[in-house]
Amino acid sequence: MQAESRLFINGKLVAAASGKTYPNLDPATEEVLGEVADAGLEDMDQAIAAARRAFDETDWATNHAFRLKCLQQLKAGLVAEMGSLKEQIATETGSPLGICGAGGPQCEVPISFLDFTLETLPKFEWSRDIGLSTMMGIQSRRLVEKEAIGVVACITPWNVPLQINLAKCVPALAAGCTVVLKPAPDTPWSATALGRIVSEYTDIPAGVFNVVTSEDPVTTGEALVRDPRVDMVSFTGSTGVGKRIMAMASETVKKVFLELGGKSANIMLDDANLEQSLLSALSVCFHAGQGCAIPTRLLIPRERQAEVEALLKTYFGFIEYGDPSSETQIMGSLINARQRQRVLAYIEKGKQEGARLLLGGGVPAHLDKGFYVEPTVFMDVSNDMTIAREEIFGPVLAVIAYDGEEDAIRIANDSDYGLSAGVWSASEERALAVARRLRTGTVNVNGGNFYGADAPFGGYKQSGLGREMGREGFEEYLETKTIALAVSS
Ligand code: NAD
Repeated sequence: MQAESRLFINGKLVAAASGKTYPNLDPATEEVLGEVADAGLEDMDQAIAAARRAFDETDWATNHAFRLKCLQQLKAGLVAEMGSLKEQIATETGSPLGICGAGGPQCEVPISFLDFTLETLPKFEWSRDIGLSTMMGIQSRRLVEKEAIGVVACITPWNVPLQINLAKCVPALAAGCTVVLKPAPDTPWSATALGRIVSEYTDIPAGVFNVVTSEDPVTTGEALVRDPRVDMVSFTGSTGVGKRIMAMASETVKKVFLELGGKSANIMLDDANLEQSLLSALSVCFHAGQGCAIPTRLLIPRERQAEVEALLKTYFGFIEYGDPSSETQIMGSLINARQRQRVLAYIEKGKQEGARLLLGGGVPAHLDKGFYVEPTVFMDVSNDMTIAREEIFGPVLAVIAYDGEEDAIRIANDSDYGLSAGVWSASEERALAVARRLRTGTVNVNGGNFYGADAPFGGYKQSGLGREMGREGFEEYLETKTIALAVSS
């Protein structure tokens, strides 16, 4: 497969300074897809220097019309390259084409999301006059101005790599920032493709956008976070790494924007139509459960347990997986052998702690290649068990019985995380009242779907700080300056 293997630094597609490369694997087949540059500290230093210089010495931050033109060119380049991008993303993430095609979050949809930023940019109010004030006899007219925060480090995970790369880099660039993108080692092509498209299709000046891939997940990322030339870190990944990034960023008091893990609850209220609403439980199979907002705790009324169990057995039987070329399958493999081992260890822990395994629980017998785990359902889970508290990031559902609506809300909120939730009821009013009491950044009611370019997404509690997408996602990359002009009497 033809894919970009080079870094993008200071406007040039380049090999790593050391000349090193590393293999990019297809997790669904365990085959090597190709090679990619394995950057070290020297490459990262050059990328940061280029981004700093481009921010300080070009008019990128202030020339709004030019930025709009460049981002329109980027959108056109992404659309022109859609076919090959889809194939590269599907293979490096192990997703079946069913979630890389139209409507899925891996490729077409995130590219279409650029339109929201392209529409926001020309309408944005960069300066507002807040009127006069008088202080100790001095009269002033005050302006509140918004301006780019500076050099932004975008550090991203492997599950929906193009979507997250674009959701960070595009608003950051639109705001006037310059960017160093460091993707996850497992999905480098979703980032190197952006470097090539910027270089071939756009007039984005040298240094404004840089891409640095490395096999080591930590070293270049830590150098980027610690560097005093970087003004902000925009990170999506696990809560553990997010905490470490926050601590490192504090050394230079840089802004951190964090999209972290989740352990979201899907609440079936006692009047819910279970035949309809329990289909949503299958979302743990979507991309093999590798989605931060997937509801992995299913909260059910204790008196309806038998009904739930029978329906789950039927519905999970519908899930087919193992064919990466399928346009209808939604479940692929896990990203690597380590992640599969981690998921299997959580399944063992669930059994040891007394949860009852209803379905799955192992490696599928019908597939001899690929890092697959069977769709897995545990019944009789209590909210203090490890499988109810920790993010598994695999196709594993924990079913928890509750006693009454207050108990359901208490259990849903009894989590270190607060990313997302679902509520189902025959009464929309009742479901909405419950949704408003949940301590989470998004809630889907009766099958609604929060996901959209104009909808802010992010977490409460240890699920993160700040919001991605929507107007809020653009404003994350801005500083606020108040200017006072003396008014002569
Ligand atoms: P991860 O935290 O291991 O790594 C994420 C990124 O951080 C990678 O690019 C990695 O190389 C880099 N990194 C790792 N250690 C670092 C360090 N010490 N300093 C700087 N950079 C470092 O996450 P992952 O395993 O790639 O992705 C899965 C996690 O991402 C899950 O926890 C999931 O919930 C989370 N996630 C969250 C969202 C969200 O929007 N809230 C979206 C997708 C994924």
